[in-house]
This record gives sequence, C-alpha cells and structure tokens, in this order.
Amino acid sequence: MSTVSDYFGSQVFDDRVMRANLSADVYASLRKTIDEGKELDIGVANAVAEAMKNWAVSKGATHFTHWFQPLTGITAEKHDSFISPAPDGSVIMEFNGKELIKGEPDASSFPSGGLRATFEARGYTAWDPTSYAFIKGKTLCIPTAFCSYGGHALDKKTPLLRSMEALSREALRILRLFGNDKAKRVVSSVGPEQEYFLITKEMYDQRPDLRFTGRTLFGAKPPKGQELDDHYFGVIKPGVAAFMEDLNDELWKLGILAKTEHNEVAPAQHELAPIYSTTNVATDHNQLMMEIMQKVAAKHGLVCLLHEKPFAGVNGSGKHNNWSIATDNGQNLLSPGDTPYENAQFLLFLCAVIKAVDDYQDLLRISVATAGNDHRLGANEAPPAVISIFLGDELNAVLHAIETDTPYNGTEKMQMRLGADVLPKFNRDTTDRNRTSPFAFTGNKFEFRMLGSSNSIACANIMLNSAVAESLRIYADRLENADDFETALHEMIKKTIKDHKRIIFNGNGYDDAWIKEATEKRGLLNYRTTADCMPHLLDEKNVKMLTSLGVFTEDELKSRRDIMLENYCKTVLIEANTMINMVHKRIAPAITRFTSDLSEEAYSKKKMFPELECCYETELVKKLSELTDSITHKTDELEKAVCDLKDAGDIIEESELIRDTVLPKMSELRIPCDRAELLTAKSYWPFPTYGDILFSVK
Ligand code: ADP
Ligand code: MG
Repeated sequence: MSTVSDYFGSQVFDDRVMRANLSADVYASLRKTIDEGKELDIGVANAVAEAMKNWAVSKGATHFTHWFQPLTGITAEKHDSFISPAPDGSVIMEFNGKELIKGEPDASSFPSGGLRATFEARGYTAWDPTSYAFIKGKTLCIPTAFCSYGGHALDKKTPLLRSMEALSREALRILRLFGNDKAKRVVSSVGPEQEYFLITKEMYDQRPDLRFTGRTLFGAKPPKGQELDDHYFGVIKPGVAAFMEDLNDELWKLGILAKTEHNEVAPAQHELAPIYSTTNVATDHNQLMMEIMQKVAAKHGLVCLLHEKPFAGVNGSGKHNNWSIATDNGQNLLSPGDTPYENAQFLLFLCAVIKAVDDYQDLLRISVATAGNDHRLGANEAPPAVISIFLGDELNAVLHAIETDTPYNGTEKMQMRLGADVLPKFNRDTTDRNRTSPFAFTGNKFEFRMLGSSNSIACANIMLNSAVAESLRIYADRLENADDFETALHEMIKKTIKDHKRIIFNGNGYDDAWIKEATEKRGLLNYRTTADCMPHLLDEKNVKMLTSLGVFTEDELKSRRDIMLENYCKTVLIEANTMINMVHKRIAPAITRFTSDLSEEAYSKKKMFPELECCYETELVKKLSELTDSITHKTDELEKAVCDLKDAGDIIEESELIRDTVLPKMSELRIPCDRAELLTAKSYWPFPTYGDILFSVK
C-alpha cells in the first residue's frame, strides 16, 4: 500500500519535479518568474518545455493542452498531441518553449461580449507559470490566460492576476511606510469550502429538469427533509464515503490539498474544504475540483450536483471564500500582532477591508450574481443579498474605542492609542460564531459567504482584491505625504471607522428586521437579483476604480456585463422551456391517465353498485381536473412571457422581463403541478419524487 505522501502531487509538475529535472540556471530563472513575475526568455522556456514533456511522457501523457477559463465559467481545453513526424516514418515526441508560452485555440465560439470580431476570431492563450502544470488523463494541462489579439482579457484568470498585482503593489507601499523593506510581494490567499449534492445517476436520468438545468423545476416537499438536522455532520453513508475516498485520491494526485469533508444541513448535501493557497492557484484548483467531483461521481453511479438550488425548500449550496493577505515571507496582514506597531498595521489593513466592502458592496454582490445564486441569497439559508461585515464583539469594541477616543473595556480598561498600545488578545473562537453574516472576520482572515456553489471563485476575488487595493492606494497616497505619520495614521483609521461603520453588523443576518434597518436606516444596497445588480458594474465609480488599478479596461467591463446578463437570460429561458416541455410531454398526460383510470373505475363500480357515491374517485378526479385547468392556464401564460422576450430592446430590458415576468410565471406554474404530484398515485407520476432523489444514495 502506498501512503498519501507517496502519491500526493504525483501528477503535478511542481517545485520538486522542476528542481530535479531542470538545470540550476534554468530552475533559478523560472523561480524568479514564478515568485517575482520576471519575464521568461525563450531559451529558458525551451528548456522548461523539454523537461515538462519528458516528465509528462514518462507518466503516459500523449497530448498537451493550454487549459483556460473562458467567461462561460467552466474550463476549456483543446488537445494537441506531442507527436511530430521523423524522416524515417516514425514519430518523435516534441514540445518547445513557444508552444508552452503561447497557444492559439480556435475558440471563436466562446463568449467575448463583442470584444473580438469574428474575422479575427482566434484569441490566444498565455502560460501562467505561477500555477503548476499537471496531467489529467493522458494530457499535460498548462494553466493559461486567454486574451484577444487586441489584448483584451477573454477569461477570468487575466483580471484575477491583474487584481493580485494591484493588491501587492498598493500593500507594499503601506508596508514600506511601516518600515518593512524586506517583503517583495504581498499575496492574497483563499481556502474555498465547496458544497455539493450527491444523488444516484438512476434518479438523475429520470429527471429532464436536472439533466437540462441542473436543478429540479418541479417537486413537492418530501415528508422528511432537513427538519431534524440529523444529516449535518452525521455519519457518512458507505456510498458517499467510497466516493469521498476516491475523490481525495484523485485530488491529492493533482496536488490539491483536500482536507475536510462532512455532511451538510440538507439530506444528500456534503462539503469539501481544501487547505488554502494563493488565490490564482486556489481558483484553478477549485475549477479542477468541481470537474473531478463530477467525474468521480460518475464512476460510482452517482451525479454530483453543483447547482446553487437543486431542490426547492431544501438548503442550497454555496462556497465560502476564506480570504487573507500575507507577505511573501509569510506574515499574515490580517492577523493582530504582538507589538503596538504590528497592531496599528493590522488595524490599517482591517480598515482597508471595511472601507473596500462598504464602498464596493455592489461589486461584491455582482461578483456572485448568477441565476442560480439568486435563489439562495436572502432566502433564509444563505446570507442576505445585503452585504455587511461581522467583526465580533471584541474587535467591534476596539474600533468603537478608537472612534470615540474612549478607553477600551476589555480585560482591563485601556486607552487605544495607535502605535502605543498593544491590542488585547482576541479569543479566536469568539470571532466565528455568526454564520449568518455574508462577510465575517474569523480571527486572521475574512470569510465571504455569498458565493454560489458553481461560481468560479475568480470573480469574487477579483473584486475583493481590487477594492482592498483601492483603499490601500488612498491610504498610501495620504500617509506618504503626511508630516507626522502616527497622527495621520490615527486620524485616518478613526475616519474610516466613522465613515464606514454602517457596514459593520454583528447581529442575525437572516432577520427581516435587519434588512429593514440595513436598507432604510443605513442606506446599504439590497440587489435581490442578477438583473438588479449587473448593470451597476458600469457605474462610474466602479469603472474608475477598476480601470485605474489596471484590472479591467472599460470595454472588458462592458463585455462582461453583457455576457453575465446574457447568461442569466439564457439560463432562465432554458428552465422555462424545460418546464413547458415537462408539462406538455409528461405531467399533463400523467394526470390525464390517472384521472381517466379513476373515472373508469368509478363508472364500473357505479354500474355494479348504483347506491355507491365513489367519493374517493370522483373527488380526486374533480380536484385533479381543476389543477389540470390551472396548469394549462399557467403554462399558456409562461409561454406568452417567453414569447414576449423578443420585444426586448436590449439585454438589460430582456433581463428585467426575465425577472419580472418569466421567473414569477415559472413559480406560479410550479404550484399546481406540485399539488398534483401529491394527489397522484406514485405509479402514475412520471418522475422520481424529492423523497426518492434525496435519499437515493445508500
Ligand atoms: P471553519 O470555517 O470550518 O471553521 P477553518 O477556519 O479552519 O474552518 O478553515 C476554513 C478554510 O479557511 C480552509 O480552507 C482553510 O484552509 C482556510 N484558511 C485558514 N486560514 C486561512 C488564511 N489565513 N487565509 C485563507 N484561508 C485560510
Ligand atoms: Mg467556514
């Protein structure tokens, strides 16, 4: 038996492999590229490519691909084989630096939001040496960014790398002011906790809604759901345990630090959390993890559902984005330190985050907006669509003391003079009790809890990194020109607390009273849907911040808004059409079959026993016939709403119609259908029920 440490990362061209297979010079220049972003010359690239190929071929690989993340939200790859003809009729395996650095997938069908005219359809992919290459199946996968020839980003990785760069640049300015001249880079790290559902393939195959849309569009509540909370952290069933074991093996081979797994709140719902890593690596790994979950599930006769809301009335799935920033020598900048000076620095970074989240609530909301996630946010199971920060009582009291120049009432009374006093030691446990907050400080990191389970984490981290970089830039501009650093620092922290304390909320985020207070008293934003928030991506302040930091160009932002809205509209439209189809082809005929059998039964009984009333049959036929009428009307209305979409002038108008007419009609149609499901005999109903599906894995 081999142990995990024997095969961990065995499919990754990681530091160990590089060191073993590259000459000292080549290794040193590649490391400089990876660690400091230094440009790579073609000689080095050729040597790296050769070593990479030899390593991959020795592991059975025959192909290579530039692996990238287009705006569809999933990953893309086009495989080329290593083979190259030799004069004697045989083949040799070849791969050079040029092929490693740059690729040209014929990727004209990926969404570009108008950034790439079809006559120059080819975008190009460029190697991201900061994320290790790996082997999947028989293919060497090279993580890359994807751009148009005009230089516009057509993917999620490019702006993510740019946002990391901006954050590093601005954070270093602050560190220099605090006398740190050692740090070369500041990096943001993320540990994304991934939720998912597991059901059997047998159930999945019988549900057109799951197959076409990833979620159920019909389905009455089962007699037993999550009421008893008996699934959360409960014993893992053998079928699930076997899946998890296999999944861990596959992830470990790819160097993905899968760490904890447990059952979640809903039946059939589970969670997998990796150990955190640099944001772009964490993003690549999360994409890979989602892909591998589905592959491993298939091997076990299961299907892994990553949709945010596969079942109505049952908790949906999200992703917790644990985020922190640290120097390249490992100092976590969100960790309260031991000396007064470290404390002041910590408070400044903390304030930068508070200011960022308040100033760019809209961008954070936008970064998690999809048709699927709209079903979760604000539905009493996930954080509300209103963004706020949880700091915990202790830290809150410290900020209050600074703001009001009053003594901090911790263990002992003390004045909070920055740079002079040591912060009290927080009990880390007390900072992580509030699970209802969308953005919680958990001791040395923030946990952004609004992401949907299928979201790429790139989007949230692009906005988070950028918004914090912007706060730091403003701080650095002021502090670099201050006459007296400590006074300026103190005043700035005080001002941030005063100006932005409205975003801090330590209470219950699921409470309706909070939404009222947040929106009416505090003036916080509450964008309930994708259609509500997405147009604000182009608000002047947002464009200004993102372009001036070099994260996006204005054209890129416009294209992204359009693509996200198109995606929203298309997703809902597919759902609406699936519903209409399921009603006409399956639900209505099933009810008709059942009622006609019931009527026949009543008719023949009455013939035999004229005195009988046949209440069961006649009442049921009546109820179901009324429901069928209602189903027919509602289906007609939904069809009309879909048809009216063609009158929309542009994508914004279309998304508003989707929000205001199509989605409400879908909800209305579902009601009589679910009621009919409850009244129809099981043998007649054309789909497995929620009970069947949710308890399908043994
Ligand atoms: P829980 O949220 O269940 O209490 P933890 O707080 O231990 O669990 O960690 C949750 C996730 O946060 C894990 O993926 C972990 O690796 C990650 N994490 C821990 N520390 C940091 C950090 N400094 N920066 C980013 N992520 C972190
Ligand atoms: Mg957590």
